[in-house]
Amino acid sequence: MSIPKLTVVIPVYNEEATLQALFSRLYPALDALGKSYEIIFINDGSKDRSAAILSGQYHVRSEVTRVILFNGNFGQHRAILAGFAHARGECIVTLDADLQNPPEDIHVLLAEFDKGHDYVGSIRRQRNDSWWRHVASRAMNRLRERITRIHMTDQGCMMRAYSRRIIDTINQCNEMHTYIPALAYSFAQNPTEVIIGHEERHAGESKYSLYSLIRLNFDLMTGFSVLPLQLFSMLGMIISLGSGLLVLYLLARRLILGPEAEGVFTLFAITFFLLGIALFGIGILGEYIGRIYHEVRDRPRYLIAAILQAEDSQE
Ligand code: UDP
Ligand code: MG
Repeated sequence: MSIPKLTVVIPVYNEEATLQALFSRLYPALDALGKSYEIIFINDGSKDRSAAILSGQYHVRSEVTRVILFNGNFGQHRAILAGFAHARGECIVTLDADLQNPPEDIHVLLAEFDKGHDYVGSIRRQRNDSWWRHVASRAMNRLRERITRIHMTDQGCMMRAYSRRIIDTINQCNEMHTYIPALAYSFAQNPTEVIIGHEERHAGESKYSLYSLIRLNFDLMTGFSVLPLQLFSMLGMIISLGSGLLVLYLLARRLILGPEAEGVFTLFAITFFLLGIALFGIGILGEYIGRIYHEVRDRPRYLIAAILQAEDSQE
């Protein structure tokens, strides 16, 4: 079997409601490209009928379809990593299964790729998500722009194209917690961005709660920068300096004016404020340490129960 030009990697978690619609739009869109391609679905431990639907589809189009079945839920980014490990194409496109990004726009990514870019990012033309996700992701975008060297207009959009070289480099990384678009960006030589469509989720629901979005953003911040840690040592130095001056001032007052006992509540306010900062600092330390802990245990990132692929496509 010859090496396909294009690999499309799609993580799937409880998407039984959208899969059929995805197949009916994705395959024609890829057939229309006139390039050889393969599609790798990764079933991330779905609890619904997704796995059965995927294996059904594998039997319909087994020459271009491969299905990786996970042994449990390991998260979207690890599912994509498993797809990368098995991808053989020269250009690798990641796509969500929920049809929020139209598969018909893959050719837009490929057009840029053919111009010689090794990383084609994407910007959602008009984002259709709930308002709190708009606000939160705008804030996170801005924060990321400040503290990491990753420059992306829209970090949340997963539909992107990567070159073989970037994927090979990612395959050498053993990170437990990562954020694929940012990791890929850090290896890119000639990145660019295009605008693509974005629709509301028609069926099923978002797999990301507020909590998991916060976890993901911590992965992004801690995975690509140690600035949060450095900021805390800076802040610590400034506060020590300030409190040193305060001690001198209070000492002078004690000597000149004698003992004073007013201002207990001001003291409380200052103490609580500093306590808050200290706890936040410990929390940030914990974020890094927890990740170091996961890294040193070096457990497998995911477990594959089975892979469905045509005989001749086995490596
Ligand atoms: N996904 C996954 N594992 C998870 C959560 C999500 O494979 O633990 C997949 C999901 O099936 C979808 C993609 O990741 O294809 C994006 O998920 P979702 O659309 O829920 O995220 P959102 O668009 O709300 O950010
Ligand atoms: Mg989605």
